Amino acid sequence: MERYPGLTPIPERIRRLEELACDLWWSWHYRARDLFRRLDYRLWRETAHNPVRMLRLLGRDRLERAAEDRGFLAMYDSVVHDLDLAGSAKNTWWSQRYGPAAKGAKVAYFSAEFALHQSLPLYAGGLGVLAGDTCKEASDLGVPLVGIGFMYPQGYFHQHVSADGWQQEAYERLDWLDAPIEPAMRADGAPCVVAVALGDRTVLAAVWVVRAGRVKLLLLDTDLPENAPWDRELSARLYGGNQETRIQQEIVLGLGGVRALRALDIEPTIWHLNEGHAAFVVLQRVRDALEQNLPFEQAVAEVRRTTVFTTHTPVPAGHDAFPFHLVETYLAGAWGSLGQLRNQFLALGAYDNGDGNGQMFNMTALAMRSAGAVNAVSQLHRDVTRQMWTPIWPGAKPGEEPVRDITNGVHVPTWVASELSKLFEAHIAPDWRQRHDDEQMWDAMEAIPDEELWAVRQALRNYLFAFIRERARNRWIEERVGPGQIVTAGTLLNPDALTIGFARRFAAYKRPELLFHDPDRLARILSAAREPVQIVYAGKSHPADDSGKHHLQRIYKRAMDQGFGGRIAFIDDYDLHVAHFMVQGCDVWLNTPRKPLEASGTSGMKAAVNGVPHLSIGDGWWAEGYNGANGWLIDGKCESLDPAEVDAADADALYRLLETEVVPTFYDRDAHGLPRAWLRLVRESIRTVIPRFSARRMVKQYVESMYGPVFGGE
Ligand SMILES: *Cc1c(COP(=O)(O)O)cnc(C)c1O
Repeated sequence: MERYPGLTPIPERIRRLEELACDLWWSWHYRARDLFRRLDYRLWRETAHNPVRMLRLLGRDRLERAAEDRGFLAMYDSVVHDLDLAGSAKNTWWSQRYGPAAKGAKVAYFSAEFALHQSLPLYAGGLGVLAGDTCKEASDLGVPLVGIGFMYPQGYFHQHVSADGWQQEAYERLDWLDAPIEPAMRADGAPCVVAVALGDRTVLAAVWVVRAGRVKLLLLDTDLPENAPWDRELSARLYGGNQETRIQQEIVLGLGGVRALRALDIEPTIWHLNEGHAAFVVLQRVRDALEQNLPFEQAVAEVRRTTVFTTHTPVPAGHDAFPFHLVETYLAGAWGSLGQLRNQFLALGAYDNGDGNGQMFNMTALAMRSAGAVNAVSQLHRDVTRQMWTPIWPGAKPGEEPVRDITNGVHVPTWVASELSKLFEAHIAPDWRQRHDDEQMWDAMEAIPDEELWAVRQALRNYLFAFIRERARNRWIEERVGPGQIVTAGTLLNPDALTIGFARRFAAYKRPELLFHDPDRLARILSAAREPVQIVYAGKSHPADDSGKHHLQRIYKRAMDQGFGGRIAFIDDYDLHVAHFMVQGCDVWLNTPRKPLEASGTSGMKAAVNGVPHLSIGDGWWAEGYNGANGWLIDGKCESLDPAEVDAADADALYRLLETEVVPTFYDRDAHGLPRAWLRLVRESIRTVIPRFSARRMVKQYVESMYGPVFGGE
């Protein structure tokens, strides 16, 4: 298939622009980003940084001029050179660590979501961001990993918020011509298509491939003309529809994923299930092992030896569980050699989570019972997981259930602003990226002069405001929204005022409204004459979650409320693009979950690595990340079981921190206009969070503690 049909080919001298645009490697290398920005700044912005689309829209005359522009060519040559170096590197962390011992090792990483870049919107929230960051880091470290997920041609909705604050969803079809994906081809040159039995029928799934440096991601897509209309829709949307859709999606992901790997001659040695959605991988693999004439117990033991599982949520409703009759219906055609043994297989997933529904087929239980290594995503979450799932390990002593903790991390080259990167290059080490999980190296943060650090922080805040204003202007021009909505979009914000960011999916457990517990007290904080404070909110609600939408609506109405003086903004259509501007440009990142329901949380890490200190409940990663000097801990110290009392105490603690610490420290300037104490916080945030909460530390930990033992590394 041709990506740019009908267009003159890209000039020979710069023809590898297409290859660069189609390899998401560019997205975490700022010189590559600069190259596309320079190619056409207006299109770069209009396409929200989508070079594949840019190359389709760009006039060929513009490309011809670029092919003769000496400055552009020098950049191009250097970026292409870096891409080749990255592709051919023999000397990676992985090869040094494991050498020939791990030859042939391959990790298949299954996830229902992958968030690599906004031009490929295959995610809903944090789970996807984690999977995307894991792929990028695996590429950087040379870990032989292949991702498997779904393509979701209509997976993503754009959020519009109406004048009365109600979220509207506009689904956008993902056009492969505008996305960095291509059909996966089999060795014989035919497009890869796999068949999966669903009940009494067979569904076909096409396989797409995404390049992210050394890592490839395979995406299943049931939207094929050979399928019945309802089957074509199966992979249309992420977590679409009801339980019936969901179980069918999960069968396609699990069974179809294993088949796609096989069709492409990929033989994984490790199978990593990121959350329970892909646990049907186990069914296909047990079945395959039986076909090798292994008895059932041995087949399960072999699968267990090579399977690892990461659980992500302490919220019981966040774990998929299906009634057995649904499982019977949709797996009817899938048993094959497992036919006689299917009760034994079903027992692996049987679980009563105490919600009154009795025994269900629980995907997390299936994954836990068939994985040799299970991990939670923070220390606190490990303890909660052990308690939550004790029946899975009947013999284990309390507190010794086999769940380890590998705290999430964020991909630092993706999330750190390039302005800060340049400071690190100049003052920490030119090769800081290669060593950024080295804690000692970051002691050199002291070497960055206050003036320079503050100048970068101010510049990043200004970029955020330029972005906010530009969006508001577009809404005004294109959607003709009213003046109230233009204020809500952030046009009255002051680019010099202390700016608090709160952005994540709207879910009740995240307590998005905690800050409004005492509206008058908040209004006083926001509109202090000399020391004003403002808040920028963003986040989507799941389309079916009315409670989340009501939270969003109430926040929106606060932003509209004159009593808050236009100092509260709601940025619509939160995605990776908005997230970048916000985590880099705010001054403080606010996080108020109901403890212990935030398993880890990652947006606070993204902010902290940019010198945006975290102001958070001691839940998830912050329970281990806070050191007394790198941000603030909101702790209402309320032992009550009544959530309303806990909320009141936490809100009071939050106001107190704002009034006595956050605001005064930010506005305390010396004779040069520098907030010295604030900059100590900024430094301490970067120094402590980059090495410990990087995806680099996390992926190394996965390799060493979960994968290593399997391929006999050690
Ligand atoms: C990081 C991120 C998230 C996750 O944020 P949490 O604070 O962990 O909930 C969700 N959505 C987007 C777009 C993100 O970038």
